[in-house]
Amino acid sequence: MKIGILGGTFNPVHLGHLRAAQEVAEDIGLGKVLFVPSFIPPHKVMDEPVEAGIRLEMVRMAIESNPVFDVSSYEVDRGGTSYSINTIEFVRETYKTTPYFILGMDAFNEISTWFDFKRLFSLAHFAVMSRPGSSRLPLDKVLGDLSASFRPNGNGFVNNEGCEIRYVGISNLDISSSVIRKLLKKGKSIKYLVPASVEDYIEKEGLYR
Ligand code: ATP
Ligand code: MG
Repeated sequence: MKIGILGGTFNPVHLGHLRAAQEVAEDIGLGKVLFVPSFIPPHKVMDEPVEAGIRLEMVRMAIESNPVFDVSSYEVDRGGTSYSINTIEFVRETYKTTPYFILGMDAFNEISTWFDFKRLFSLAHFAVMSRPGSSRLPLDKVLGDLSASFRPNGNGFVNNEGCEIRYVGISNLDISSSVIRKLLKKGKSIKYLVPASVEDYIEKEGLYR
């Protein structure tokens, strides 16, 4: 079975995440998409720190009804700074397969700043989703020297170890957690940007006010 990993802060999870994961799963034929909320994201200053356990809980509610979606508390349980390389190694070990790491174009364009970034490309395939506001760059601009080990294939590139970078054009939903946090701060509605269960939970707990 092909397994996808969708890492993120999920602060909070929104319909952009869910629809994106659904479209990538169908495009690649993934049997499972594991949503993995980070404990401490390496590259982010959390403007509205919401406890990891609460972000995890919101993801749990959001994916509940989808049999292909699953949530993992691996990064939250591990604590400390969450590095994707550890999560990828954990998933490889657990499922005995090379996973597809799913991420938006905005995140992929920054990947050379990630911890142990070169090794990521021998441990996972990458499914890079289109995202409003971020354009696809030439591979050498994103990977530097490492781009030399990739050759073009169908929808992207593949390296000598058989790891792919696959670009997946998805429906462009211009939804982000940052905008949702801003709306809540201004006392505005986030209806139809997040699942109703998540909206109710945020309201009930008074998060992001
Ligand atoms: P923030 O605004 O706080 O950064 P976000 O909406 O970008 O939040 P993240 O938790 O940072 O959400 O995103 C996790 C992953 O999902 C990233 O790889 C990101 O690129 C991707 N992603 C999030 N929203 C979308 C979207 N609307 N379309 C495509 N990819 C998305
Ligand atoms: Mg983001």
